[in-house]
Amino acid sequence: MENQFRQYPLEEDILGALDALGYTQPTEIQAAVIPSILNGRDIIAKSKTGSGKTAAFAIPICNFADWEQNTAQALVLEPTRELAFQVKDELYAIGRFKRLKVPVLYGGFPMEKQILTLKQRTHIVVGTPGRVLDHCKRGTLDLSKVRYVVIDEADLMLDMGFIEDVRNILMHLEGKPVFMLFSATMGERLEALAAQFMHEPLEVKIENDTETADTIEQVGYFVDEDEKKLPLFLDILTMENPDNAMVFCGTREMVEVLYYRLRKEGIACGMLHGMIDQKVRTRTIEDFRAQGFRILIATDVAARGVDFQNITHVFNYDLPTNKEVYVHRIGRTGRAGETGRAVSLIREDEQKMLNSIESFTGVGLAILKPPALRMLKMLAVPF
Ligand code: AMP
Repeated sequence: MENQFRQYPLEEDILGALDALGYTQPTEIQAAVIPSILNGRDIIAKSKTGSGKTAAFAIPICNFADWEQNTAQALVLEPTRELAFQVKDELYAIGRFKRLKVPVLYGGFPMEKQILTLKQRTHIVVGTPGRVLDHCKRGTLDLSKVRYVVIDEADLMLDMGFIEDVRNILMHLEGKPVFMLFSATMGERLEALAAQFMHEPLEVKIENDTETADTIEQVGYFVDEDEKKLPLFLDILTMENPDNAMVFCGTREMVEVLYYRLRKEGIACGMLHGMIDQKVRTRTIEDFRAQGFRILIATDVAARGVDFQNITHVFNYDLPTNKEVYVHRIGRTGRAGETGRAVSLIREDEQKMLNSIESFTGVGLAILKPPALRMLKMLAVPF
């Protein structure tokens, strides 16, 4: 059967790369946005990782890029280094027959080396906002020829405090590039950013974002205050005895507290949060993938976009404050027909959030009684 991407006016080099990647049919988000992007229309898209959203913008961008023009023709902004590299890989794979060069600019890496890379061939630049802005200010990145701009995971950029950097970068652009904004949610500040830079954007929403796989068993435990979570969680861990688990906490501090506490209990674990050195982060991710330890404790931001296989359990040590984040977190388990468990600790004053999650997913959590193993152990002392 002919590759369905042939319905779009794409170059042979791009169609060949899509064939090689095994992309024969556009995903929903791709079908919704590729024709508009090719026509130069701005877009705002709500679509999660896993929907094929990277290729949705990477295909038109690679199609547009001209190898002869040795300058940044497209700019993709990502909130984290991991996402930046994942997106670079996709752009690289789609642009491989055009031999497109895709430098990645991110903080914590020597400026001088990035400057040297930029002096070599450059077609599409991917980067985190702070570092991209640094290069703009130093005059080592010329954005005057940029014709496509992607602001990916915009809600996360906002949460991480990058939105002013994004705005400043956009101020360095010239002419009227095509703007694409991808975000799980749109609030006032993102609307304002869109209104400032975008022209009659097409708004696309991929609806099945609320779906949680029915291979995920969702359970919850109530606690009356945060302080009671730790002993309860240790009991739950003993009982669930997960093969591969991710534990999400609401703050960096909580990630640390939990990490050191589990280590004290002799439980092999790792942690990811925004203040951890890049090298250590990479090592932790690799080590977890290689099953060097079974429990990874993380904040949403630090774990966003990093893919792990075979997660058997997702623990919400802290319930997220956003229902979409809940769906995203638990979607890390129960993949490919395997069963998974999502276990949430819910403070009593979070009942409203729980209701909102349940009506969003259409699935109720089974509320379980605390196992109280520790209590039993204490009571089991012989007379
Ligand atoms: P993303 O949502 O961008 O993280 O993409 C999720 C996965 O889907 C990635 O591994 C892509 O390589 C893959 N993918 C993207 N588009 C297609 C397509 N049209 N057909 C098959 N796989 C795709």
